Amino acid sequence: MAIRWGDLDFDDRDDEDDMLAAWAAGFDTPTLTERLDAWRPAWMARGACKGLDVSVFFPGRDPADAADAKRVCAGCGVRPECLSFAVDHYEHGVWGGTSPAERRARRKAG
Ligand code: SF4
Repeated sequence: MAIRWGDLDFDDRDDEDDMLAAWAAGFDTPTLTERLDAWRPAWMARGACKGLDVSVFFPGRDPADAADAKRVCAGCGVRPECLSFAVDHYEHGVWGGTSPAERRARRKAG
């Protein structure tokens, strides 16, 4: 009995090795971490927030909760890139020293 898997035909048990190889090749893809690393802009690795508790950058709705994150952003060397990225991508949390509401205002202002 022939087994079809994608574009491949497996006619008999002799093709079992080929089938296993094809199956294993399906896992020859980058890990999720590798995919995320490829997606991330290079400047992110230089952010002052790197290695800090990420929850600081996703505070509650009270603007005062964002003060700690904004202090870190104030001394960050990639703040302009970060802010531009967040404005373009509608990110949540504090990015580039701004809250989501502040970025919405920037988008409206054009
Ligand atoms: S500006 Fe703030 S959020 Fe953006 S990379 Fe720098 S420290 Fe991180």
